[in-house]
Amino acid sequence: MGRATAEVNSAPDIVSRRSADVLVVGAGPTGLLAANLLALYGVDVIVVERNEGPVNEPRAIILDDEFSRVLATLGVEHEMREHGFGPVGVHYLSRLGFAILKVDGFVTPNGFANRTTIWQPKLEEVLAGNLIREAPGRLLFGHELTAFSQTDSGITAEIKDASAHSHEVSARYLLAADGARSLVRERLNVDFDGFSAADQPHVVVDIAEDPDGYLPYTKFFCDPRRPCTSVPLPYGMRRFEFFLFPDEDPEAMLEPQNLARLFRPYRDFESVRVMRKAVYVFHSRLASSLQVGRVFLLGDAAHLMPPFGAQGMNSGARDANNLAWKIASVILGRSRAGVLQSYDVERRDHVSRIIRYSVQMGRLSNITSKFVALIRDLLFGLLNLVPPVHRYFRSMRHMPKPDVGAGLVVDYAGATPECPVGRPVPRLTIVDRHEGRLSLDDAMGSGFAMIAVDVTSVIERAIDRIREFDPTTRCIRMGLDDGGDYTPGDEEAHRWCQLHRGKILLVRPDRYIAICAPHAGIVASIDKFLAATCLPNSELDP
Ligand SMILES: Cc1cc2nc3c(=O)[nH]c(=O)nc-3n(C[C@H](O)[C@H](O)[C@H](O)COP(=O)(O)OP(=O)(O)OC[C@H]3O[C@@H](n4cnc5c(N)ncnc54)[C@H](O)[C@@H]3O)c2cc1C
Repeated sequence: MGRATAEVNSAPDIVSRRSADVLVVGAGPTGLLAANLLALYGVDVIVVERNEGPVNEPRAIILDDEFSRVLATLGVEHEMREHGFGPVGVHYLSRLGFAILKVDGFVTPNGFANRTTIWQPKLEEVLAGNLIREAPGRLLFGHELTAFSQTDSGITAEIKDASAHSHEVSARYLLAADGARSLVRERLNVDFDGFSAADQPHVVVDIAEDPDGYLPYTKFFCDPRRPCTSVPLPYGMRRFEFFLFPDEDPEAMLEPQNLARLFRPYRDFESVRVMRKAVYVFHSRLASSLQVGRVFLLGDAAHLMPPFGAQGMNSGARDANNLAWKIASVILGRSRAGVLQSYDVERRDHVSRIIRYSVQMGRLSNITSKFVALIRDLLFGLLNLVPPVHRYFRSMRHMPKPDVGAGLVVDYAGATPECPVGRPVPRLTIVDRHEGRLSLDDAMGSGFAMIAVDVTSVIERAIDRIREFDPTTRCIRMGLDDGGDYTPGDEEAHRWCQLHRGKILLVRPDRYIAICAPHAGIVASIDKFLAATCLPNSELDP
């Protein structure tokens, strides 16, 4: 990929012109993740960020298992692990102190903790550091997007640096990860429908050396007198989030005497060391379109949700993971641009559900009527006595799954264990007959992978067919008995292989299963997939 960085000074007010395949606006977690993935896939990317570096605001502190998995693909998950801990559970406590609902932390089939506590500035630092290593000179801090235009062939953006000099960047695609107040979204006139809970601000305070510093669970104090949440942070810190009532002046509540009042039921404020504090109004909004021509909205620029499900940043990571490989596929000439429409199709449904979930979790924990709170506590107390219901909540099945039901998947049938199309493939432990134990992800690499479980026939035809589309597709031949290059490495992998014996699965670079078919039907399924990706040489391509 050419890295054309022609420095032309033809227009008096433009001091430089640069070009890239993709321009990413915003170096928050979403933009940085998208840029890292694009660089991994071989795409030339420029990121502009108006700040001079990561900002130290008290924002995301919970990383989910899918985000951790993407970090592992980038090779930086171990670095983050040194700056956080998990799995982290959630306990919802009644006013009287008994647990209304208890979810202990667990490791998911994605291979990582369902929730890991992290320090968002550290995450941004790690992602920025990796990008600087992998794509030197392409992350431009202190550069602000001020205007842009698009044509059928690309976009042109005006960027102002810290000295107020203007630069022009041309690119084939623009990824707007420029946060809640997205200039790009505004200029595109994309509606941002939803609501803001302006009457229910929260005070957020991060404190150091907390007695609960290493307690591996969040406590939702569902006390109707003043709902409060305390969440573990790395480095022995803890976050407290206090509900504010409409008659309280949010800014005044940050004054020490008012903070002392808020902390009184939990801590002696004299001994509290405040690291960061802020007042937040939470929003629930979703952009009416995630794509306008060559421009895509990601992360907070595309959606906002209250933090009660800890899914804002994690949803942005899913956006980046979903879109980056598709853009790479188009830029590398493997897919037609039409494939990019699947980004909105695949992400919209899950994002809407996760916004609703976050709102509902907030409503449930922030009840301020003593009577309604009592009903809630009694109801959950009773439900906890019913073992299947108890198990349902404990395993967090009440949280919407990020299934991809429509888009670049073939014959989605509801993502069942037998037909997991539209779900991430589990990060199984497997054994390479020559190299020993490894994770399925390491065997698959970062591109497409075809997994054949105890299949010997048609596999060559199938792999040839998919490699016409992506020559780098890896083939994982799993054998339960003697055949195959890999065998299951533990009980779980064994069970999974038993369940899929005789099948072939196609896994996308974002680890989602696009095809799960009996070996006899695999070539037809691949052709359906190729038709959906608009591959020019697909037999089914119109
Ligand atoms: C109290 C609180 C707790 C939260 N807890 C969690 C949690 O535990 N887990 C979770 O998943 N989420 C959580 N969130 C949400 C999470 O912080 C956000 O969803 C996340 O930061 C969004 O990332 P982003 O990259 O999309 O946007 P941002 O982080 O807002 O980044 C956007 C970037 O774009 C830059 N920018 C904007 N305009 C321009 C421009 N014109 N030119 C150049 N640069 C520009 C900005 O400077 C900024 O750096 C929480 C939020 C809050 C408020």
